[in-house]
Amino acid sequence: MPTPPSPLRRITVLAGGIGGARFLRGLLAAAPDAEVTVIGNTGDDIWIHGLRVCPDLDTVMYTLGNGISEERGWGREGETFTVKEELADYGLEPSWFGLGDRDIATHLVRTQMLQAGYPLSAVTEALCERWQPGVHLIPMTDERAETHVVVDDPDGAVDGSGAPARRAIHFQEWWVRYRAELPAHAIVLVGADDAKPGPGVVEAIESADAVILPPSNPVVSVGTILEVSGIREAVQRTQAPVVGVSPIVGGRPVRGMADACLAAIGVQTDAAAVARHYGPRRALIPAGAPADGILDGWLVDSADAASVPAVQSLGIACESRPLLMTDPEATADIARAALELAASLRPQA
Ligand code: GDP
Ligand code: CA
Repeated sequence: MPTPPSPLRRITVLAGGIGGARFLRGLLAAAPDAEVTVIGNTGDDIWIHGLRVCPDLDTVMYTLGNGISEERGWGREGETFTVKEELADYGLEPSWFGLGDRDIATHLVRTQMLQAGYPLSAVTEALCERWQPGVHLIPMTDERAETHVVVDDPDGAVDGSGAPARRAIHFQEWWVRYRAELPAHAIVLVGADDAKPGPGVVEAIESADAVILPPSNPVVSVGTILEVSGIREAVQRTQAPVVGVSPIVGGRPVRGMADACLAAIGVQTDAAAVARHYGPRRALIPAGAPADGILDGWLVDSADAASVPAVQSLGIACESRPLLMTDPEATADIARAALELAASLRPQA
């Protein structure tokens, strides 16, 4: 009898906010004995009213620590917004950011620790002592590197030739204030050149048994993490299979405005197009072009079953199955499918 494959013990996940966090809940249910390391996107981070806010780290931490608002998908359950209203009454901008009263406590702890000299990774570890997320959550970098979006000046300013003047605004302003409705000319991670991977990030990728890309935003979550120098290379180098779950179902993001982000980088909002954008990691097709992508495997939704051959022809193993994280069981099934695909792609010992 063949020996059963050894389980995937060490799993490393590159996660954004809501899509990443919900998937992680399923992953922990599907692989309760695994040691899961989460590399969190910090490109969304912002200073608001003197507070350091890390939306994606907090979404992962609150979701896995059972403190998330299930309805909104971000922020605390039972949240109130009194401080936000009071600040607005002072006329203090930005007034568009959803800063909740309970949430502010997290930002106060974080800001004080940062100001005392602790790196973000240490601060995150301290915050996780309260939330016990059941994963090792590491920011992609301890340095400040924030996503900005180049748009036509929202106030209508023009340049010398009378054309709309272009301006880079913070990702949060584009996403929250303008609902990603201002067409993006470019999306840039300001500070990427100086950002080093957070402590343990490269090791977690290199020593993993599987690297999983949850259905997070391919541009401003996963794309941002990969932009930190050394992280993409670690994903390309690791012996572990790298498997992704499509956040695009039936030509649309399941929630949020990932389509506006993909348009900004010239990628179609389509599960196969996202796989092509990530690219194959190893040349699975012998005659294929040299591979310099990051994927060995890709899961698409049943609605996108027709695109499976196109993904496979890129040299990426691909399967279709239901990918809507509608309830805990469905989510755990998606995670299990990602792990099974990864296990099937492990290099033979
Ligand atoms: P954010 O930082 O809060 O925007 O969250 P992420 O980057 O982690 O994830 C956002 C992505 O999750 C969006 O592009 C959604 O399409 C995707 N998403 C949300 N819910 C689901 C779901 O149930 N199934 C799949 N396949 N994708 C989902
Ligand atoms: Ca985010």
